Amino acid sequence: MKAGYYVGDYTYEVRDIPERSAIDDEVKIRVAWCGLCGTDIHKFQGKNGASVVVPPIILGHECSGIVMEVGPECKYFKPGDRVACDPSYGCGKCTWCQQGFPNFCLERHGVVKGFSEYVYPPERNVYHIADSLDLEAAAFTEPLSCSIHGLDLIQIKSGKTVVIYGMGSIGSLMLQLIKYSGASEIIVIEQEAEKRALALELGATLAVTDQEIETIAQEINIDYVVECIGLKETMEQAIRIAGKNGKVLLFGLGDPEKPISFNQFAAYTKELSIFTSYLNPQTSERAVKLLESGLINTEKIISAELSLEEIGDELSTLKYARKGKVMVYLSKDH
Ligand SMILES: [Zn+2]
Ligand SMILES: [Zn+2]
Repeated sequence: MKAGYYVGDYTYEVRDIPERSAIDDEVKIRVAWCGLCGTDIHKFQGKNGASVVVPPIILGHECSGIVMEVGPECKYFKPGDRVACDPSYGCGKCTWCQQGFPNFCLERHGVVKGFSEYVYPPERNVYHIADSLDLEAAAFTEPLSCSIHGLDLIQIKSGKTVVIYGMGSIGSLMLQLIKYSGASEIIVIEQEAEKRALALELGATLAVTDQEIETIAQEINIDYVVECIGLKETMEQAIRIAGKNGKVLLFGLGDPEKPISFNQFAAYTKELSIFTSYLNPQTSERAVKLLESGLINTEKIISAELSLEEIGDELSTLKYARKGKVMVYLSKDH
């Protein structure tokens, strides 16, 4: 089977590797779609994603597909089932897993390398999806589950003002989730006019540039800021523009070499809370339900549908990733 590897040194390669049968409680899935994630791009650029990277590694972790075969201990799946995956699980035994924080597991198992024709996750990582849910949309399960976890942390109250940075794929998902939180004002900060228009279409009440928000922040109290870009400048501005009692969620994956700074005195006078969010503990099921409900528009977020081979070029140019979500098709016959 074909698989898309990051082999180190800014190089991506499609390799032919042996296909095998499902063992134990594994579910062998023929991958339909896999999203290209910001962390894949980070890995390609020699930075760590959510964990330390040692190439060669198969990229991709946001996939959906059809069950081809199940291992002998598998109870809940059968060939032909349509499914989405959660790419990792906690050991269940370490101190963090015991405390209910599988995202901090000391020996986290990554079990879905989605840039390959088949993946073999254990059934605990596999989720049934409704027949009505398109497989391409189902591949948004993981990024949506991460967004849900982030928003669970800040607990947005209805009738409040929320600012979102960036209309990339995560910002676009966040915006739609925040819309249903009952926020009365949702302001999206985005430099590109085209994406500001998309923000308004997806439910923002206002879409402005980072210069414009400085003035707005003088006039109204910004209760929540959700930063989905990860640049030093935008993260620092996010903290600066947040109002009294503000909560800032730094969701965008920042560069570990570029730590941010902020005025702690200004933060003190606002009683500011700063949150970060790591992975997607126990939120995959909710992500699937939301996608099935049709409340989340994924179509408008997708900027390109590429083959495994075309991803090499995309990783070095980011031509489409800059515009939205890049989806990789592994098999087109379903
Ligand atoms: Zn991801
Ligand atoms: Zn653990």
